[in-house]
Amino acid sequence: MPAPTAPTRRAIARLLAAGAGLTALAACTPDGGNRPPSSASPSVTSASASQAAPPSSAGPETSAAATEPGTVAAPAPTAAPTPTSPAAGLAQQHSLTDPASPWLVVNKHRPLSPADYVPADLVQPNIALAVSGESAQLNSTTAAAAEQMFAAAAGDGVTMTLASGYRSYGTQVATYNSYVASRGQAEADTASARPGFSEHQTGWAFDIGDGGGACGFQPCFAEQPAAVWAKANAHRFGFVVRYPWMFHQITGYYYESWHLRYIGVEAAMDMAAKGIVTLEEYFGLEAAPGYL
Ligand SMILES: [Zn+2]
Repeated sequence: MPAPTAPTRRAIARLLAAGAGLTALAACTPDGGNRPPSSASPSVTSASASQAAPPSSAGPETSAAATEPGTVAAPAPTAAPTPTSPAAGLAQQHSLTDPASPWLVVNKHRPLSPADYVPADLVQPNIALAVSGESAQLNSTTAAAAEQMFAAAAGDGVTMTLASGYRSYGTQVATYNSYVASRGQAEADTASARPGFSEHQTGWAFDIGDGGGACGFQPCFAEQPAAVWAKANAHRFGFVVRYPWMFHQITGYYYESWHLRYIGVEAAMDMAAKGIVTLEEYFGLEAAPGYL
């Protein structure tokens, strides 16, 4: 995207100056083993959560109404791109609801089904790892694409590490519950995806680091070579920066320059060519600023 570059830098600088931590709405809270959320940057996170008007704070009333006994359950998520969506033109179409589909869309309106889904083909990619255990795993398709992308980045002199990959339902339960216990649910929803709502559980998404760690999972990571390179090149390997700058009212999460999502080369290249930066818009889905 040619246009957003300069505003992005300025806006990031403004936010940093204001002390507003974009981690407040992180979809990517890393698991406790590597970087405990409670020690990540507590003052910034808790201060900004109340000031940043997180998208998820918009709908407590609707949330209560939806769970009242006797109300009809929400309709099943759309299973295919809408006929008029930009993605409808691609020769090969994929499911938007099957967790094993590269076009699966998970957001605050679209939980995984089943909620405790586990990818059948988890593998550890042959790339630089900053984590171990389940976090070092991806589904096999994403792992292969990551290997190609990391090698290409290295060829350009850019160090990229896998900072957080697969995260099981059980791990997400523990992470989310620890936030609820320490801060209450409203604030927990701004800091961690609810179990069953995280892209990390699908094996299609991961967070990158640069081996240094100073800006890991922080707004300033956007200025680091790994993020700059990924923003410019990830689509060539089938990835999108899933939570782009200033689209939190659509994606439900503030900018995460480190969180990449595999959707396939054809779709990622098509999105880049058309200047579309969210999966919601590309597949013709409703915006998902908060939980229903
Ligand atoms: Zn992430």
